[in-house]
Amino acid sequence: MSVPTSANPSFPMHVSVAEAREMLAALLPELETETVPVAQALGRTLAADLEALVSHPSATESALDGIAAREADTLSASAETPVRLKIVGESRAGMPFDGEVGAGECVRIYTGAPLPPGADAICPVEELADDGPEHVHLLRPAFPADVRPEGGDFRAGETVMRAGLRLSAPRVALAVALGHARLPVRRKLRVALLSTGDEVIEPGLPLQAGQVYDSNRVGLSAMLGESGCEVIELGHAPDSPASLQAAIAGAGGADVLLTSGGVSMGKYDFMRDLLIERGRVSFWKVRMRPGGPAILGGWNGLPVFGLPGNPVSSLVVFHVIVRPALTGQPVQSLKLRAATPFRGLKDKTAFWRGVIQDGEVGDYGAQGSGILRSLSDADALVIVPEGGGVQAGELVDVVLL
Ligand code: AMP
Ligand code: MG
Repeated sequence: MSVPTSANPSFPMHVSVAEAREMLAALLPELETETVPVAQALGRTLAADLEALVSHPSATESALDGIAAREADTLSASAETPVRLKIVGESRAGMPFDGEVGAGECVRIYTGAPLPPGADAICPVEELADDGPEHVHLLRPAFPADVRPEGGDFRAGETVMRAGLRLSAPRVALAVALGHARLPVRRKLRVALLSTGDEVIEPGLPLQAGQVYDSNRVGLSAMLGESGCEVIELGHAPDSPASLQAAIAGAGGADVLLTSGGVSMGKYDFMRDLLIERGRVSFWKVRMRPGGPAILGGWNGLPVFGLPGNPVSSLVVFHVIVRPALTGQPVQSLKLRAATPFRGLKDKTAFWRGVIQDGEVGDYGAQGSGILRSLSDADALVIVPEGGGVQAGELVDVVLL
């Protein structure tokens, strides 16, 4: 076929980054819920609200190693005028003191140990001077602030985590603290991954001039894994419609197919032709650089997202369109001061590679979409909106890499 142009296409062309993201998300299925041991829940999406089954702390306890006493007894304590208290026992984590702390008394106490009845404040060990085995001098008052009240973190019955939350390491730890051994999560999205190109070869093979190692497939597979997806590896297909079709046939059971290469303006960009001529196209081309040639469509009911083959393009499109659509998690951007100017593009959002130093972001330099080092060396993508442009010293939106 002749390469399609913007003139009267039968599908949207040159969509915005946000539109591309929404159109991909709209083609993905609702994922069923499954229950997994909490240790396997990292990176998954919580499928239901989580209540605390217990309180944390489960009892009022000490935040420090020291002594527990009555605050009122200790108010006059200082290095010059220490207060002398009688030690009546010990409270250890998991082994509480079984008596009560009376006036003029204290117990030795350790971090996480229950506060005995009668005591309401802690003096840390650094502020104590021993006076024989049975007495201690306080060099400053005991503080109630060093008592952790029961339920101070969360109380039994409280809804602490909401459905839709992505389970990071601290969130998995929190779920355990809440009392859950198994968690309801969405099943993993199954993503088939295919790279294309006659010149693209497996790592480890000797490289002939004009060939390139299949860096995209390994990079994309890693990013899919980090994004909590199950990857169905379809390997690599040469540039012919028949071999592409044969490879895509292996995507049975996938929720979405992600391809790299063959979607641009060239004669041998057959992924593009296949979708346009024999599949379905939701859009072709996104108003962004790098990554402009990306295509979204369908093949026999399977959603297909075609990433451009240029290594920087494919990984940047993954970052700002594919991952947020697949995970439902928005792209997190923050504002940094620009250390250098960043050029704007008339009708494209630019995602320049930036290096962060001393809290400011500067231009990485080589910004070509084939310069893979720019992504591996950069700290952030600097977003310059369509028609914009950034002067040194201005605030700019960045996405951390
Ligand atoms: P394409 O999008 O197929 O026109 O490819 C654009 C550029 O990306 C070409 O220079 C390709 O050699 C390169 N390329 C394509 N696929 C890959 C890949 N899987 N890994 C690394 N580079 C690739
Ligand atoms: Mg190609």
